[in-house]
Amino acid sequence: MEEVSIEIVENRFMHELVSPGDRFLGDIVRNFVDREIMPIRREMEASTRGDFELVREVQRRLVGLGFQGAFLPPEYGGWNLTSALSYCIVLDEFSRGEPSCIATLGGGAWAFRPACIAGNPTLLEDFSPRFLGSDPYVACFAMTEPSGGCNIENLDMKGKGIHTRAELDGDEWVINGAKVWPTNSGVSDVYCVVCNTDPSLGDEGIALIYVPVPIPGYSFGRFEDKAGFRSSREGDFYFDNVRVPKEYRAGGPGLDAELLHDNLVFARLFSAAWAAGIAQGAFDEVMAFSAERKVAGKPIRQHTLAANTLADIAIGIQVGRDSYVNAAYMFDHPEIYGKRTSKHMISRSTVAKVFCCDMAVKATNQAMELMGNYGCATDYHVEKLWRDNKIIQLWEGGAQLGRMDVARGYYDYDQFYENDLYDLMQEMRRK
Ligand SMILES: Cc1cc2nc3c(=O)[nH]c(=O)nc-3n(C[C@H](O)[C@H](O)[C@H](O)COP(=O)(O)OP(=O)(O)OC[C@H]3O[C@@H](n4cnc5c(N)ncnc54)[C@H](O)[C@@H]3O)c2cc1C
Repeated sequence: MEEVSIEIVENRFMHELVSPGDRFLGDIVRNFVDREIMPIRREMEASTRGDFELVREVQRRLVGLGFQGAFLPPEYGGWNLTSALSYCIVLDEFSRGEPSCIATLGGGAWAFRPACIAGNPTLLEDFSPRFLGSDPYVACFAMTEPSGGCNIENLDMKGKGIHTRAELDGDEWVINGAKVWPTNSGVSDVYCVVCNTDPSLGDEGIALIYVPVPIPGYSFGRFEDKAGFRSSREGDFYFDNVRVPKEYRAGGPGLDAELLHDNLVFARLFSAAWAAGIAQGAFDEVMAFSAERKVAGKPIRQHTLAANTLADIAIGIQVGRDSYVNAAYMFDHPEIYGKRTSKHMISRSTVAKVFCCDMAVKATNQAMELMGNYGCATDYHVEKLWRDNKIIQLWEGGAQLGRMDVARGYYDYDQFYENDLYDLMQEMRRK
């Protein structure tokens, strides 16, 4: 593949914002992706239609690199890798190759993050050693329910969209409910279950409770069959009077709602980087292809029309990166930019997520067009990146709730302004 100007690559990120440590981390991941993933990404996708063994093998190698427990505090054996910007850099590099196989490890870090932030000693003592083993120890952040994902992510709903109930019985939580679509469904060793202790309490009723499996009362339905993101597994699972110790609640009333919102903002940021990396992968492919393939007597990319399109893709990627780097830096520095779950921060992180996802959908589409038939041929990778990216645009509130959250940063937008629509809907349903 033809080299892009070295100055462009080296100055992709402002050195004042992205530390040498994070750039070094990015280099490690880039090398891993080039060496271990690029040559076999087609076979990996084929493996997801079979026994999944090749995907699991790559995930085992990633565990060997030490990424699995990196998010844990140093006193529990981790590297304290908690910065949103570090996660963004890692995901940007990964998704250039095979975006979904990192979801297994990344989903685990995301799921255990609330326990780490809360500093819950029981959870840290019971689970940290398992994340530090040499085999994958898989975790899942289980939020979405059959009645909808956005109803849970929507701040205006104040937890009313969470139907999974947790009741305290003596020293144990008793959990009942159903979850659909969480990453690592059915393959997890521990679930962080987003529950409600009492819908009338609003945010105070939100509870994040950890459930290790197997455990009596837990059952799994089936895996979803998706267009893209095939190395990651999603499905539905059920809790029927599942009992766990009361110390397995991450924080407590009020704090758990904060932890949920904090995790959502964090996920918007890393989703932005995930999408930017996908666009980069498609850009690399189309740059190489359009340098070789000739139409009307010269390489495709020497036609003005194509140069315009390539420039548009490059503009989108760079502006997307600037957007997530700025927002992640702000998230990582609450001492300067304020609370990480403020309306301002939710808005800024969502600007990055919505922009990068829309941009990558367009970029993969444009790359495909410049490549003609080969854009949709499986011998190349643009069609795969095209499929993989769409899903990122749909998760974490999708493009619509995302835009509502952007608006919240600019004025006092409230979906239920002067009418409690949700309560009204529930009332009508009861009649
Ligand atoms: C590959 C993949 C991985 C995932 N991983 C996880 C995970 O790890 N954990 C987890 O809990 N979930 C996960 N999800 C689920 C995902 O976050 C949800 O699917 C997402 O929030 C959308 O929820 P929904 O499909 O129920 O859409 P709905 O909530 O039914 O929304 C449908 C449509 O309505 C729009 N909409 C929603 N609310 C409003 C509103 N108030 N006003 C106007 N429009 C609105 C949405 O933008 C969307 O276009 C994953 C999904 C996928 C595909």
